[in-house]
Amino acid sequence: MSNQHVNNRLSDLVSNTELTEEDVSPLRNPQRSIALSIPVHLENGETKIFNGWRVQYNDTLGPTKGGLRYHPSVSQDEVTELAFLMAIKCSLVKIPFGGGKGGLKIDPKQVSPRDLESVSHTFGVALAPVIGPDRDIPAPDVNTTPEIMNVFRKAYETQFNVSAPGVITGKSLADGGSVGRDTATGRGAFFIIEELRKEKLLKTQNTTNISVIIQGFGNAGRHLAVFLSKAGYTVVAVSDSRGGIYNPKGLDILALAKHKDDGKPVSKFTNGEAISNDELLRTETNIFAPAALGDAITKENVDTVNADVVVEVANAGVTAEAEEQLIDRGVTVIPDVLINAGGVVTSYFEWYQNIHNETWNEEDVDEKLRNHLVTAWETVRKVAEKEEISFRQAAYLIAVKRITSKK
Ligand code: NAD
Repeated sequence: MSNQHVNNRLSDLVSNTELTEEDVSPLRNPQRSIALSIPVHLENGETKIFNGWRVQYNDTLGPTKGGLRYHPSVSQDEVTELAFLMAIKCSLVKIPFGGGKGGLKIDPKQVSPRDLESVSHTFGVALAPVIGPDRDIPAPDVNTTPEIMNVFRKAYETQFNVSAPGVITGKSLADGGSVGRDTATGRGAFFIIEELRKEKLLKTQNTTNISVIIQGFGNAGRHLAVFLSKAGYTVVAVSDSRGGIYNPKGLDILALAKHKDDGKPVSKFTNGEAISNDELLRTETNIFAPAALGDAITKENVDTVNADVVVEVANAGVTAEAEEQLIDRGVTVIPDVLINAGGVVTSYFEWYQNIHNETWNEEDVDEKLRNHLVTAWETVRKVAEKEEISFRQAAYLIAVKRITSKK
């Protein structure tokens, strides 16, 4: 992933929609990129430097908003593209935020819990001068948890001697979080899939006959699997970084979630057959959801995808070349900026409750989330049909027009 990808997406818009180079040029580069060097004293007495980034891509529609990721492959290019996607996403689902993203190059599996807390505290202190409830509001992403968000909040508040719950979202409930935030990305994706089903964009309307495969069984993938299986969909395979598990009759997702909570990889679940991540991609299914890292479907493996619909839960989960091939083959692709927007919409609800000192219940959160996402989906569908463009191009067209006030 790179800034080149951002530029290619924007050039594609100029070639295929009414937008001109002048319209898209303010979005070709981020407004602000901050590189951070984080020295941390580890438990073993060693001092190690970790590299991190925060990119505030565009704040035209409000404070920048987006997650902080911990992963050994994090780079400035990756964070930049993800920050751009956040700007598009927030605009598309009509929340008053711009786009931001950040990350730290670290393998959390190689670090003790105490060292992880020290790293998060030092990262939080380093971020404090550039974030704020009216400026830039981070949230969880890959490998970052509500507990880590609490550490960031505390680092910011201590630094400025203020109470500022709205500086971070995705906090635990006891620390100013919102009900429904932990499950929001999966729930949002579920709402959109239900719309696809009702609007006959899936092969059948009977959920039991709709098979689903999900790559990634973390926050986004796991909750999506739970919502789908509770609604009767047949989730035939899921995977994590150590491999996958397959059962053509449908996996018992609640039992699998418990198995994962016990610290075991999904491939060791007894009620299914262990498969590799490559086999998972090749397995025939109605819906395939990449819900792990970016670049899950590329021109190298797109030929093996055996699904009718790809829902891109992972940010940048499908490359542009791979998407073109999927669409040529008649596969429906629902883009990341729509299908995974439930997380940021509920983060907005959390921030709103923090700022206004309100506490909403789960029904309120669910209903408002559904409204934001279904409205966005209906607009995307209408624009795609009218302009004869892909769902992604339609989503970008709507979002960029709002940012550049073309309306
Ligand atoms: P997570 O850290 O909770 O889970 C990631 C999962 O992916 C884990 O199960 C991990 O084992 C698995 N994984 C890692 N590498 C893999 C591989 N090569 N093959 C298969 N599985 C692999 O992260 P998350 O928050 O669920 O995020 C997943 C994706 O969803 C990311 O692309 C993220 O940007 C996107 N997303 C998340 C949210 C959110 O609210 N959590 C919101 C929007 C988008």
